[in-house]
Amino acid sequence: MPVIGYQNHITNTLRLWNAEPSNKPLPKYTSFSEYCVALEELCHGLYPDDSTESGRILRLRQQYFLVSAGLQSALNSYYRHHGTLIGIHEDYVFQLNDTHPILAIPEAMRLLMDEYGYGWDKAWDIVHRMFAYTNHTVMPEALEKWPVQYVQHLVPRVFMIIEEINRRFNVQLTEKGVSDSARYAMQIIKDGQIHMTNMAIYTCFSVNGVAKIHTGILESYTFKDFYALYPERFNNKTNGVTHRRWLMYANPRLSKLITSKIGEGWKKDFEGEIGKLKAFENDEKFLNDLMKVKAENKKEFADFVLKTYGIEIDPKSIIDVQVKRLHAYKRQLLNIFHIMYLYKKIHECPDFKMTPHTYIFGAKAAPSYVYAKKIIELILAVAKVVNNDPLVSKYIKIVFVENYGVTLAERIIPAADISEQISTAGKEASGTSNMKLMMNGAITLGTLDGANIEIADFAGRENEIIFGLTAEEVQEKVDRGTYSPWDVYNSDARVKSILDSLFTGPWAEGEENRFRMIFDEIMNRNDQFFVLADFNAYNRACEAADELYQNKKAWAKASLANIAGSGYFTSDRTIAEYNRDIWHLPKLIIDD
Ligand SMILES: *Cc1c(COP(=O)(O)O)cnc(C)c1O
Repeated sequence: MPVIGYQNHITNTLRLWNAEPSNKPLPKYTSFSEYCVALEELCHGLYPDDSTESGRILRLRQQYFLVSAGLQSALNSYYRHHGTLIGIHEDYVFQLNDTHPILAIPEAMRLLMDEYGYGWDKAWDIVHRMFAYTNHTVMPEALEKWPVQYVQHLVPRVFMIIEEINRRFNVQLTEKGVSDSARYAMQIIKDGQIHMTNMAIYTCFSVNGVAKIHTGILESYTFKDFYALYPERFNNKTNGVTHRRWLMYANPRLSKLITSKIGEGWKKDFEGEIGKLKAFENDEKFLNDLMKVKAENKKEFADFVLKTYGIEIDPKSIIDVQVKRLHAYKRQLLNIFHIMYLYKKIHECPDFKMTPHTYIFGAKAAPSYVYAKKIIELILAVAKVVNNDPLVSKYIKIVFVENYGVTLAERIIPAADISEQISTAGKEASGTSNMKLMMNGAITLGTLDGANIEIADFAGRENEIIFGLTAEEVQEKVDRGTYSPWDVYNSDARVKSILDSLFTGPWAEGEENRFRMIFDEIMNRNDQFFVLADFNAYNRACEAADELYQNKKAWAKASLANIAGSGYFTSDRTIAEYNRDIWHLPKLIIDD
C-alpha cells in the first residue's frame, strides 16, 4: 500500500501479507480441507477471540506468519544487494511495536543460521543490533506469555532457539552475580510459559516507553531488574499523533482560522510554528472566532447525531467526550457513576441548575472481556433512562456511538469541549486521544497519568482540570493495603446511593441482578482501579469544569492554550526522536 507523504515527493510502502496455497506437497497427515481452513483463517482478520485455545493458537500462527514474511522480505532484499547480511543493522531496524511481533527475534535467528548459514554468535550480534522494542502497557495481563507446548508444537525450531537464548542469558546472569529474585523475574522461560517481553528486553539494543511517567514506571517498577542490568537500553519516546489527520483533515474550520493568523508553516513544522497562536490570547476577535469554529463543529456534529442515531442533542450544550477502548483501568465507570449521581440530584433538588451537558461515549470491548461489555450495557441503560426523562434530559443527554473507530473519532473530536482522560493514575501508558482532543481545543478533565502530565505541562496546568490520586498515592495504597471501597461506601451517601441503584435504580429495569457484576467488582473485589476513591475529587473537577465554562472568555483562552501548546504532540516530533536515538537514518533532502 502506498503511504503518501504530505507535499514532499515521498511515498513509502506499507507491506501487507496474504497467505496463498503452496505448490509443495501438503504436510503429512493434513487433509486438503484442513489445509484450506488454516490458510483462510490465517488472514481473515486480526485479534481473533482469545477466550478459547483454538483462538489463541490462531493468534500465535498469525503472529508467526506475519513476522516471518516481513523478515524474509527484508533479509532477502538486503542480501540481493550486498551479498551478505553483515552490516544489515545500518539499513534496517525492526521496531517491535508492542509484544505481538516479538517472535521475530527467534525467527530472525532461525533465518540467519538455517537459511543464511551464520553461526550463533554472528547471528546474535546482527539480531541484537537490529531489534528495538516499544512497550505500550504496564497491565500484567497484556505482557504476552505463551505456553511452552503451543510454541513447541507450532514452531519447534523457533522453540529450540528460544531455549538457547534463555540458556545463554542465564550463563550471563551467573557471571554477573545477579540475585535469585532478580534472576527469576527476568526469566524468559518459567512455569511452563515463554515470557515474550523478557526475551525482547534481553535481546534489543533499545527499550522505550511512550510517555515520561510510563518510562519511569518501566525503569523503577515493571522492569527494574532489567534496568539495573542494562540502563543504557532504556529511553522514552512520548507518543504523538498526526496533526495532518487530526487537525488539518478532521477540522478544516479550525485549520483555516489557524492559517489566517500564522500562515501555512504549521502544516509541515507543527512543533516549531503552532505556538505562535499564543500571541493572540488577548485578541478578543480571535477568541470569538475560535469559539465560533467550535460552535459550528458542534452544530455539524449534532446534525450527524440526529441523522445517525435519532438522538436530538443541544449544540449549545457542553460536549463532554470519553472515546477510547473499554477497559476497567480507563474508568468509563467513574464517568457513568457521576452521571447516575447527577440524575438523582436533578430529581431531588427542585432548584438544581447546571449547564446542559452532552456526554459522548465511544468504546469497543475485546470479544472475551465480559466485564467491559457489562459496563457498556450500564452506559446504554443509563442513557435510555436519562434521554427519556423529561426533567433530566433538559440538562443531560448521553450518546453511546456504536462501532467506535477512526472515522467516528474524526467527527467527534473537532466538536469536543471536554476531553475525559480519567484512568487510574499509573495505568495509562500514554494515551493519544488526549492529544487529538488537545489539538482541537478541548480542555482535559483528567488524572495525572500517561501523557496527560506532559499535556498539562505544555498547555499550562491552569488550562486543564486535573484531579485525583497520583500514581505514587495509588501505589502506596496498594503496597500498604490501606484502601477499602467499603470505607467510601459507608461514609459518602452519594456513593452508597449510586452503588445501591445498580440493583434498584431505573436502569436495572426491575432486574435486580442485572448489574450485580459491577457491584461485586467494585465492592467485593476491592475496586482495583480506585473508582470510588476518586469519586469525590472527580465530582469536584466536573463542577470546576462547569464553572470555567460559564466564563466564556476564560474558556476560550484555555482552549487556545491547549491548541497553541500541542506542538510537542505531533507524531513528526515523535518520529524524529525515534530516528535521532534509535534508527539513525539519514534525513532525505527534498527539493520542492
Ligand atoms: C486515538 C484512538 C484511540 C486511542 O485512544 P486513547 O484514549 O488514547 O486510548 C483508540 N481508538 C481510536 C479509534 C482512536 O482514534
